[in-house]
Amino acid sequence: MPFKTNQILQNYQAILIHPKLSGGRCSGELHTTSELICFVSEEINYTFSINDLTIEAGGAGNRFVFLKNKNEENISIYTKDKSILKDENLTSRKHFSEEIGQAKKTLNKMLVGTLTLLGIVAVLIVSIYLLKDRMVTGLANQVPVKWEQEVGDKLFTSITLQHEFIKNDSLSKIFNQVAQPLFKQIEKDGYKVDVYFIKDPTINAFALPGGKVIVNTGLIEKANNWEEVLGVLGHELAHVTQRHHIRGVINNIGIFAILSATLGDVSALAGTFANLGGKLASLSNSRAFENEADETGWNYLVQANINPSGLISFFKIIKKEYEPTTDSLKTDHIDLSFLSTHPQTEERIAHLIKKQQQLKQTFQPLPNTFKGFQEAIEKE
Ligand SMILES: [Zn+2]
Repeated sequence: MPFKTNQILQNYQAILIHPKLSGGRCSGELHTTSELICFVSEEINYTFSINDLTIEAGGAGNRFVFLKNKNEENISIYTKDKSILKDENLTSRKHFSEEIGQAKKTLNKMLVGTLTLLGIVAVLIVSIYLLKDRMVTGLANQVPVKWEQEVGDKLFTSITLQHEFIKNDSLSKIFNQVAQPLFKQIEKDGYKVDVYFIKDPTINAFALPGGKVIVNTGLIEKANNWEEVLGVLGHELAHVTQRHHIRGVINNIGIFAILSATLGDVSALAGTFANLGGKLASLSNSRAFENEADETGWNYLVQANINPSGLISFFKIIKKEYEPTTDSLKTDHIDLSFLSTHPQTEERIAHLIKKQQQLKQTFQPLPNTFKGFQEAIEKE
């Protein structure tokens, strides 16, 4: 090759566009010297004098630097190696400075364009996260209530195998009579409420997706009045109507699955939801859901003309009961529990007390049947 020994040789990965090439182009190495521009590859070597060189940026997205022989319009060499614009063989020649300056500008424009695009993408991602809750809720609303009921029924069956239920029609009748105004609030949202009592001394209650609620005898035994029991019940039923189980599942699947389900169909969610079983609990017991259930449950009670302060006094009972050993909170059965978020009890009480102070309504006292009901439950 016609290089003189005292010349600085620079190398760049490049592509040559040449009519003699079978595919019209090939990749190879570009060398510059103080005299020559030289493209070397296995297929072809192409050399021209640096005096005939023109330099410009261009190509797809203006990402490349083109080196052309001004006498051969249909031939060009291009590289994405931008360091060529600092090549001394080129910069040392004053008449290239304008072309090099122009090429740098074009490449910078591309950079600004890329950064703008990245910025837009970042804003989009942030908005998706901010909108996530709304999308989760929107998606949950597309899931038929029937699915929730089916999953709830499955869970219920497994609970019947693990626990002893109280089967006493007259007790159920007494309870349902007192709770009727509350049930009506939930039935407005298309849910049918069924409350069951199981023999378990743990102070607990939990709702299954679809509307079944399980109350432990331990909760009835520790409560002082109907208002406290219904306070817990209002909270549990709010988990049902606010669809915390399915929303928990969707949250857990992740944002991109949500997006694809939002754009496509929701049937893929059905399988996931149905197979989660007991794991539903940890998903539906987020702090945000608990607060929402307190809030919504409270409103149900107010609308049902039941004094919601029972929820506060029952929280205080739980707090007193479980304060010394938080370990005793662990429940072994399906974990959709009222208690599993115990550590936030203090905060939740404080929030509800604020709501209580804003109440202007006075409430009808509930029937005087609680003590009798409680004794009968204890005897079962
Ligand atoms: Zn809860």
